[in-house]
Amino acid sequence: MKVAVVGSGIWGACSAYHLKKAGVDVELYDMWGAGNSRSGSGGASRIIRLAYGDDKIYTELTDNSFNFWEELSNESERKLYDECGMLWLVSQEDNSYIEKSKKHIKSVGHNIEEISIKDAKEKYPLINYEDINNVYYEKKAGALMASRCCKNVVRKFKKKGGKVFLGEVKIDENSLDGNFIMNFHKKNENVLVLSGSSGHGFKLGPGLGEMVKNILVYDNKIPEGFDINRLNTDKTVSQYYNAQIKYQEKKRLFN
Ligand SMILES: Cc1cc2nc3c(=O)[nH]c(=O)nc-3n(C[C@H](O)[C@H](O)[C@H](O)COP(=O)(O)OP(=O)(O)OC[C@H]3O[C@@H](n4cnc5c(N)ncnc54)[C@H](O)[C@@H]3O)c2cc1C
Repeated sequence: MKVAVVGSGIWGACSAYHLKKAGVDVELYDMWGAGNSRSGSGGASRIIRLAYGDDKIYTELTDNSFNFWEELSNESERKLYDECGMLWLVSQEDNSYIEKSKKHIKSVGHNIEEISIKDAKEKYPLINYEDINNVYYEKKAGALMASRCCKNVVRKFKKKGGKVFLGEVKIDENSLDGNFIMNFHKKNENVLVLSGSSGHGFKLGPGLGEMVKNILVYDNKIPEGFDINRLNTDKTVSQYYNAQIKYQEKKRLFN
C-alpha cells in the first residue's frame, strides 16, 4: 500500500508516522513544513486534557495520545510535554459538562476531582474566583510544545524511512456540529479526508493517527460520529457545542 498524506500539521504528521510504523509506504506533503507558523499546529504550546463531557470517543483518543507524547518528549533533547495538570474554573450554573466527563475519565483510569472554592483560594491564590461556581482539578493533563512536537513527529517518521515533500492542497477546519470529519472521498476512495480538528488536534492527534492507520491498514470502521453524512440531518449537535451555544450569553467557552 502507498499513501500520500497532505499536510504535516499534527494530524498529518501523526497519521504519516503511524502508517509508516505499520509498514506502509508513506509520502508526507506540506506547503510550508511541519508545525509552521501559518498552520493550526504552529506556535509554542497547546493543552492536553481528558474532559470532553459525554463525548467519550474524545476522552479515549486523548488517553491513547498520552504515551505517545511522553515517549516523544523523552526521546527529544528538549521537553515537549509537561504534565502540569489542569484547573477547570466553571462560571456557569450548570457544571454538567465536567460532571458528564467524570465517568469517561474514570473508565480510562484517571480522574477529575472537584475542589472547594475555599481550598482553591488557598492553593491558587492568584486567581480571581469572583464569578466561579465550581473548580475542578484534572491531574492527567498538561502542556505540549506545539510546533516542536510536529517537527519531532516528522523526524520520527523520517527515521522510519518516511519521505517528506513540498506540495499543496486546501482544507476547511471546523464542522457544523463541532465533531470531526473522517471520510473516504466520494469520488476517489483512495483519498481519506480528515478535518474539523479545530481546538483539539493535539489532544487527540496521536490517538487519531493510530485510528487512521487501523482504518487504512486493518480495515477498521470509521466511527459513525465522524461520518460527514451526519451533517445532512438537523438533529445532531454535539453536547460540547450545545454547552457553548447555551452559555453564549456569558461568552465563556470551554476551551
Ligand atoms: C490558538 C489556538 C489554540 C489551540 N489550542 C489547542 C489546545 O490547547 N489543545 C489542542 O489539542 N488543540 C488546540 N488547538 C487546535 C490545534 O492546534 C489544531 O487542531 C491542530 O493544530 C490542527 O492540526 P492539523 O494537522 O489538522 O492542521 P494544521 O496544523 O493547520 O496542518 C495543516 C498543514 O497543511 C499544510 N497545508 C495547508 N495548505 C496546504 C496546501 N495547499 N498544500 C499542502 N499543504 C498545505 C500547512 O502548511 C500545515 O502544515 C488550538 C489551535 C489554535 C489556533
